[in-house]
Amino acid sequence: MEPIAFDNSYARLPERFYARQAPEPVSAPGPIRVNRPLAAALGIDGDWLDSPAGTAMVAGNTLPPGAEPIATVYAGHQFGGFNPQLGDGRAVLLGEVVSPDGLRYDLQLKGSGPTAWSRGGDGRSPLGPVLREYIVSEAMHRLGVPTTRSLAAASTGDTVARERFLPGAVLARVASSHIRIGTFQYYAARKDTDALQVLADHVIARHYPEARDTENPVLALLQAVIARQAALVAQWQLLGFIHGVVNTDNMLICGETIDYGPCAFMDAFNPQQVYSSIDHGGRYAYRNQPGIAHWNLSCLAQALLPVLDDNPEQAVALAQKAVDAFPDLFLAANTAGMARKLGLQAIGEQDTALVEELWHLMAEHELDFTLAFRRLADLVAPREHAEQAVSALFEFPDALQPWLARWHTRLEQEPSSPAERQRSMDLANPVFIPRNHLVEAAIAAATDRGDLTVFHQLVDVLEAPHAYRPELALYATPPRPEQVVPQTFCGT
Ligand code: AMP
Ligand code: MG
Repeated sequence: MEPIAFDNSYARLPERFYARQAPEPVSAPGPIRVNRPLAAALGIDGDWLDSPAGTAMVAGNTLPPGAEPIATVYAGHQFGGFNPQLGDGRAVLLGEVVSPDGLRYDLQLKGSGPTAWSRGGDGRSPLGPVLREYIVSEAMHRLGVPTTRSLAAASTGDTVARERFLPGAVLARVASSHIRIGTFQYYAARKDTDALQVLADHVIARHYPEARDTENPVLALLQAVIARQAALVAQWQLLGFIHGVVNTDNMLICGETIDYGPCAFMDAFNPQQVYSSIDHGGRYAYRNQPGIAHWNLSCLAQALLPVLDDNPEQAVALAQKAVDAFPDLFLAANTAGMARKLGLQAIGEQDTALVEELWHLMAEHELDFTLAFRRLADLVAPREHAEQAVSALFEFPDALQPWLARWHTRLEQEPSSPAERQRSMDLANPVFIPRNHLVEAAIAAATDRGDLTVFHQLVDVLEAPHAYRPELALYATPPRPEQVVPQTFCGT
């Protein structure tokens, strides 16, 4: 049986989009985890993927039939500074898998050895960042956030030299595509208008086919990317997710979250929260994420100017108008999501003060982001099983009582029944998120003691983030002060 149904459209693009590059074999491939539901969705045999032959493929030691491995090139603004030459420095795209339901997905190996774009790096990844990406990307998927996925991870049997020697690993990552804002920026910086048009046509056909039949397909593409990213970042905000490195090379045209380097979910609410060890200025702090996404999308618009309109002034006018739509699109998505979190059908102008006041109180009292919202879901209706309330883990301080009373009064205007409201609030207010101290504990157990059970249990728990089970209370509990992990590091 052909294990994987490849059809590699990116590898059929002109040669200046990539360098052909096979993954570099490793010493001793070992299985870490296989994502069987995802394998099944892709039409990949889970038993095969979990066999030594599958592990060898994930580690990069064998190529499946039909793979055409390439390292793609891109550019990007990193922390605001433009780098005209980035690219897959530690990853290769094996090819595109067409799933049984006809959808096309990139299958990429991350940590698979040096490429033409490694810029002196070793092309490898330590085990820790691979586990972090596996845990958080799969959790994001279960939370309903568009994201790259983790198909499988394998250990390499080699060490990688970082601040110390660390075990190496490879992640098999799946995305609708890995085409970034920075991919367009690469050709724009080189004034390669032909390549821009080829790339625009490619992403329209692949991700935005509805744009093709509009008067200006590139404009429709730009507008659609802006809408998807506005919705995506709203979802991050509503879950307290801090990406950590929202560079333009880390924003995908398909609208999926990518690059789980220094990311983290916040525990206590703090709009200024930053986790990334290299983000000294707080550029990518929680509250800055929407503004940064807006700025990044203006970089996309700028890159697309030569293919937006033959008349440069007209191109700028079209681009500006599209970019200017971002704040309203973000606000609409964010407000709709906030309404779901609060058990309201919609948030009207008369509710704005109520919402603002909640954020203010949450920051002032440093309430746990996740449990505070979850507790609201407890409070709208009695739980069928009392122990399924999170009251043992979290209770609002007295200072919140006046706000809670106002909110209850507001709920009386809602048409839904309390039980219905609780069901939908539970779905908007997860109880299990990949808390940073739990992620770090899973990484430490695997890296220091070769123990993967902590990792496996965490991934298992996060498969059902919305249903509270009291026996899993530890996974829902915020860190004690000494457990707080204040910083995360890039996965390099
Ligand atoms: P990131 O911070 O993950 O977005 O990576 C930024 C750039 O650095 C990308 O072009 C990566 O391919 C490259 N890079 C990161 N880590 C390595 C590594 N270990 N070896 C080579 N290139 C790397
Ligand atoms: Mg990146």
